[in-house]
Amino acid sequence: MHCPFCSHHETKVIDSRLMAEGEQIRRRRGCMECNERFTTFEVAELLMPKVIKQDGSRQPFDEDKLRAGILRSLEKRPVGVEAIESAISRIKHKLRASGEREVPTQLLGETVMEQLRGLDEVAYVRFASVYRSFKDLNEFRAEIERLEQEQNG
Ligand SMILES: [Zn+2]
Repeated sequence: MHCPFCSHHETKVIDSRLMAEGEQIRRRRGCMECNERFTTFEVAELLMPKVIKQDGSRQPFDEDKLRAGILRSLEKRPVGVEAIESAISRIKHKLRASGEREVPTQLLGETVMEQLRGLDEVAYVRFASVYRSFKDLNEFRAEIERLEQEQNG
């Protein structure tokens, strides 16, 4: 860490303390050259992996876009905001926990579907029909039947 005052490359830590319930470390540092003091903050980096699209391009994970897609599927369905937000948290957690720097868009889609199924079957089918873009009605029907069977069994 270079000194922000004189750019000298040697600084020493004078004091460290945990902040924000332990999620952040605040460090007081002193420059070995000019003796000026400054503060640094350290936070754990929990990066979302990038999403690899069908065409091979990479896009940053877009939480707003994810939320919009989920809300569209849940339109007029009896699911509360809190349940939706925890589903989004679980999706993000799962992507991070993959430990990958890039994940295919299919994995994101499957993860969303998995969560939607737990929230609301209608929303799940809506999302799946858009996401999987069922080639024909038979494929769509097969999915509905599969769901019904699982519900009955
Ligand atoms: Zn300095």
